[in-house]
Amino acid sequence: TVREAGGDNIVSLSKATHKALNRRSIVEKRLLLALDQRNLDVYYQPLMDAHTNEIIAMEALVRWHDEEIGTVTPDELIPIAEETGLINEIGKFMLEKACLQAVEWQAQGYSLKVSINSSVREFRDKNMAQSILETIARTECPVELIQLEITEKFALEAESEASIMSQMRKLEQEGITFILDDFGTGYASFRYMQLLPMNVLKIDQTFIASMLKSDKSTQIVNGMVQFGKSMGFIVIAEGVENEDQVNMLKQFGCDILQGYYIGKPALPRELSSLLNV
Ligand code: C2E
Ligand code: MG
Ligand code: MG
Ligand code: MG
Repeated sequence: TVREAGGDNIVSLSKATHKALNRRSIVEKRLLLALDQRNLDVYYQPLMDAHTNEIIAMEALVRWHDEEIGTVTPDELIPIAEETGLINEIGKFMLEKACLQAVEWQAQGYSLKVSINSSVREFRDKNMAQSILETIARTECPVELIQLEITEKFALEAESEASIMSQMRKLEQEGITFILDDFGTGYASFRYMQLLPMNVLKIDQTFIASMLKSDKSTQIVNGMVQFGKSMGFIVIAEGVENEDQVNMLKQFGCDILQGYYIGKPALPRELSSLLNV
């Protein structure tokens, strides 16, 4: 009966909730330790200029393997870090590593920008912009090599929070590039695209994945590229996995390509072969 089914649901739900809470607190505890010991890894995924086929940038992506709880993926890690506030520590760690790596690539003769993903919670810290600029200065990284990827959710909240807006403007004036990540997935608002100091957008990988499967899904991508270009944006496609997608995106006039077909996220030493071609 309904009542019995309902009863079962309540029991299993609370068991599941209990398990989830337990997992969360274990992850949080281990993450604190990992941050303390600087025991996270930074992988880099290449971005290719679609016009010249050259690798022009790398996106820094957090990787975490804990000896007790194993590998924790970003999809699990980031939401927990955002809820607990540990995202601020992760962001600082990632930025410093990325700056040092950008300097190293430059010393090796490569001209590569480096992108770091930022959560809106990090920008609730009034000293975020200052702290970013300090890290860049301390690592002697040229500021124009640093790009910050923000999501549509971030952009939506930033639009209504004056302190986030002013911090973004300050960073942009100092030479940092903002990229609107996962474009098309959420709260796409044409208004914030006008207001925020941004001129790069990255079409979400779900659109690239469904591209070429139907006329409609192909034309959505075309439309997004044309929209971005008409706004004067540089347009990136993420999640590019095959040559057909590359050809179509080039035909649409997409500027930059990223995805497993170009290169998977990897450690810097594993990426040198890509850079030497
Ligand atoms: P994102 O910034 O949109 O990054 C793209 C994700 O897609 C990455 O997953 C990447 O490994 C994956 N990917 C790249 N190319 C392909 C492809 O061709 N096919 C498929 N199927 N997947 C591809 P990852 O590293 O697991 O990160 C997931 C999300 O977690 C990121 O999405 C980003 O939002 C967040 N994230 C990762 N590192 C950080 C970080 O250091 N700070 C913050 N705040 N968020 C992070
Ligand atoms: Mg990203
Ligand atoms: Mg993305
Ligand atoms: Mg994504």
